Parts: sequence; structure tokens; C-alpha cells
Amino acid sequence: MLVSLMVPCYNEEEALPFLYEALCKVMDECPKYSYELIFVNDGSRDKTLQVLKDMAAKDPRVRYISFSRNFGKEAAMYAGLSAAKGEWIGLLDADMQDPPSLLPEMFETLESGECDIVATRRVSRKGEPPIRSFFARRFYRLINKFTDVEIVDGARDFRVMTRPVVNAILSLSERQRFSKGIFAWVGFRTKWLEFENVERIAGETKWSFWSLFLYAIEGIVSFTTAPLRIATLVGFFISCLSFGYLVYYFVHAIMLRIWDDVPGYPSLLSFMLFLGGMVLMALGIIGEYLAKTYIEVKHRPLYVISEDSESKKEEKEED
Ligand code: UDP
Ligand code: MG
Repeated sequence: MLVSLMVPCYNEEEALPFLYEALCKVMDECPKYSYELIFVNDGSRDKTLQVLKDMAAKDPRVRYISFSRNFGKEAAMYAGLSAAKGEWIGLLDADMQDPPSLLPEMFETLESGECDIVATRRVSRKGEPPIRSFFARRFYRLINKFTDVEIVDGARDFRVMTRPVVNAILSLSERQRFSKGIFAWVGFRTKWLEFENVERIAGETKWSFWSLFLYAIEGIVSFTTAPLRIATLVGFFISCLSFGYLVYYFVHAIMLRIWDDVPGYPSLLSFMLFLGGMVLMALGIIGEYLAKTYIEVKHRPLYVISEDSESKKEEKEED
């Protein structure tokens, strides 16, 4: 049986040799399967592509796909999953934060037939900036509250899946992909393995605080329209309040017989500002969804491949 292991790589020249060595160890440990290693070079600026080419030249199990520029990890994962030919497909990061040493246990679990996906989650966030952990936790709470998919806190993309699961994932054709949500959305029987957070072996993370924030919004907008409903509800609530205030004002005026209520300017101003803010926020929320629809409608490809190991092989054969 063929097992495909796929790795998205962006500027990972330093980490790749370690990863390759670790994967070789796993493949030696579980010799009953045959393997293909698919590396997707996501427009790296360092020598990642060269490292991959050298690996592919030495080891026939290694395949690579190289993008014309950086399209992001989501696109890289999609490309890798589409290219995979195996019956089982594994997904892991290049930086050894998804310990390959867990793979044999994952294969064993899948072999038992009691699940279709063996996924992993980190039980600690050791070595991560506390502020990042804090916001990550809040994000998971929020997204699970508002969406009907359950995204597990600390869930990694590190997982091994059977063919039907991968086909289901590939059948979701959206352009802006939020894999954590997609994995949860497709369902199937999932078994979770837990591990302690490991720090990346070399190189540095590609996530800035800002990009994580945008990613969080992306996740929410991709999987729920609840913010639109919240905007409607808040609007309704504020209308009720202001109507109540109007009634209060008239009753008050009639009782005290004061009609020229010039004092009250500050409260008027704060109401106006508050409402203005609310309207802008609601517009912004609508804008998010509109923009998403716009991008989906354009239907651009998720990535552009500049070269891959298959076409290189064919070229060589023709020569
Ligand atoms: N990655 C990628 N394209 C990107 C950013 C990241 O293919 O634009 C890959 C990266 O090479 C690594 C994985 O995605 O294999 C996870 O990236 P990183 O370690 O930076 O994320 P973190 O572990 O900090 O969440
Ligand atoms: Mg990492």
C-alpha cells in the first residue's frame, strides 16, 4: 500500500535535511508500506528548491512541486493533496514541529480501522509567546461558539487521512481555504493523538501577529455568517433603545414643561458617534462577506506551478 507524506515548505532549507532524515527513519521503521514524499515549495526565497531537487535526484520516493511565487500554506497543502497518489495521505510541517516520530503510531491507529483520520493536537503551547497563546485560545472559543464545525484547540494540520477523506477535502473548491475548518467540516471518524509543543528546529515562523489576526477573521468569515446576524441584532437593539429614549424624552418634557432642551448636547453627540460607529462596523462586516464572494466568483486557480519533479523526469526521458 502506498502512503503519501506531504510537506509544505516555505524558506525551509535549514530544516529540510533534518526532516528528511527523520522521515527516512520512519520509513525504515514501517517497511510494510511503500512511500512517496511530496514536498511543495511555496515560492521560497532561499535554497529550498535546490535542496528538494538534490533530494529527488538521490531518492526516487521524493517528489516536489514548486510554485511560481508564495501562495501560502493553504494553497501548498491543496497542491500536495491533489498530487498525492497514496491510499493514505499524511500531512506535516517542514520544521519538525509536527514530530515525524509520531507517524508509526498514527499508521498503527489507522491500520486498526477504527477511524479514518488520525489527527494531532498540542497539549501545551510551551515556547510560544504568551500573548499569542492567549489570543489563540480566545479565537478557538469564539469560532466554536459561532460555527457549526468544532475546531479543537491546539489542533495541528499534522494528520494522516484515508483516501475518501482527502477526496472530500479536495472536493471543497473554495479559493480562500481555512483548512482547520475544512478538516472539521468534512467529518469522518477522527482519533486525536496528543503531544507536547516542540519548537521549530531551524529557520523562523512565517506568522506575524497581524497575519494571525487576519487568519482568525478569515476562519470566522469562512465558516459562519453569524457576524451578519449579530450586526442586525445590534442594530435592532439600538433602534429599540433610541425609541425608548424618545418616549422618555417626551414624557419628561410634558411633565416638566420644558421643550427647549438645549443642554443634552453631549448625550446627543455620544449617541450619534455610537450609532455612526455601529453603522460603520456593520458595513465592514458586510464588506468582508462581499469581498469573499468577489474573490470566489473570480475563480482564480489556487496556485501556479512553475516546475515539478514529474515534468522534469519526463524532460529527461525525452532527451
Ligand atoms: N508554509 C508554507 N507557506 C507559507 C508559510 C508557511 O508552505 O506561506 C509552511 C512552512 O514551511 C511550514 C508550515 O507551513 O512547513 C508551517 O509554517 P510555520 O512553521 O511558519 O507556522 P507555525 O508552526 O509557526 O504555525
Ligand atoms: Mg512551525
